[in-house]
Amino acid sequence: IASKSQEFIDLEDKHGAHNYHPLPVVLEKGDGVYVWDVEGKRYYDFLSAYSAVNQGHCHPAIVGAMNKQAQTLTLTSRAFHNDKLGVYEKYITDYFKFDKVLPMNTGAEAVETAIKIARKWAYEKKGVAETEAKIIVCENNFHGRTTTIISFSNDEGARKNFGPYTPGFVKVPYDDAEALEEALKGDNIAGLLVEPIQGEAGVYTPSDDFMKICRELCSKYNALFIADEIQTGIARTGALLAVCGKCSCQGHCERQETYSRPDVLILGKALSGGAYPVSAVLADDEIMNVIKPGQHGSTFGGNPVAAAVAMAALDVVKDENLAQNARELGSYFREKMNDYIQNSDLVTLVRGRGLLNAIVINDSEESDTAWNICLKLRDNGLLAKPTHGNIIRFAPPLVMNKEQLDECIEIIIRTLEEF
Ligand code: PLP
Repeated sequence: IASKSQEFIDLEDKHGAHNYHPLPVVLEKGDGVYVWDVEGKRYYDFLSAYSAVNQGHCHPAIVGAMNKQAQTLTLTSRAFHNDKLGVYEKYITDYFKFDKVLPMNTGAEAVETAIKIARKWAYEKKGVAETEAKIIVCENNFHGRTTTIISFSNDEGARKNFGPYTPGFVKVPYDDAEALEEALKGDNIAGLLVEPIQGEAGVYTPSDDFMKICRELCSKYNALFIADEIQTGIARTGALLAVCGKCSCQGHCERQETYSRPDVLILGKALSGGAYPVSAVLADDEIMNVIKPGQHGSTFGGNPVAAAVAMAALDVVKDENLAQNARELGSYFREKMNDYIQNSDLVTLVRGRGLLNAIVINDSEESDTAWNICLKLRDNGLLAKPTHGNIIRFAPPLVMNKEQLDECIEIIIRTLEEF
């Protein structure tokens, strides 16, 4: 590590809480699919800030909208109205075709919001006895880091010594329709909270029809189907939403055969293109109207800068056909990687959808092979991070072109061959 980089790492180490274990690289600039470190070395970003930077680093349209709004009005709180919030609310509800949105800032806050909405809906609309509501979640889920959310995690590191835990959650194996139906038959079920692809679990991709089954079973048992698309949404998996399935419409048609429309849709990350913390919960009136003044909110949620940034970020997704690009480049990437692993003992599996992919390394979860591969990838000019000891996620910005992807595939294969 060069001394300038080491200085910044030492500062974080000394003065920051040790709640992350970053790859040793110190970045100072980003543009599109590239980032640069403080020594001036350029890298391909193959993480995109956990899929927040789908539109590419410092997209001029998004940064422009942010700058313009920042110089005009940044925050009113929801104590007063402003001239951006309603415009944004109309824009995003038209875009995703829901009656209403509840704006928040981070992903975890939006998940908390969805949980509160689902519980209130259960008591006030479904007739569940007060304090008895249960929400079904999946094993190996990742929905954020708040006290309630870690209560239903099964990652020991995320949970241990953070109790007492919030009750009211039932866990079922992911991608297991039978177990899901059994759980839905239980009493007092408010809904199912599920990721269409489990990103943090290692881009664990369920059967093609799993979302459809979730939708149908939730309807059958009068439970809310709550899709956490914080990581999978906004073109990442080759459709506007992962619940759009294989549809190529970017979510703008209503192809019933592929679109498993959730009752509650949770978005974050790329909703701002990584420029600003913006998250949202979308639902129709019958559900969203259970929330009344004073029952939920956030000082910064839906502020004018967030509103301007989110509209610009969603415009970019459509204008630049990012879903289509992710779909095409994603298939190409998996095809090339699958060709490679035919003759590799190191990589056992390539999986994913669109440009949310992962490779599984032929080693134990406790090994540091994936970490060492990521260090070598860094040396070779590409930044990725293991999700578990033996899984590496590959999620570049969706503004990548084929020539750039070819270069990245060459770097990845050349690096793997060094092991
Ligand atoms: N849900 C999913 C599926 C995520 O991938 C994440 C973040 O990685 C979150 C929720 C939490 O979002 P945030 O880190 O913005 O709180």
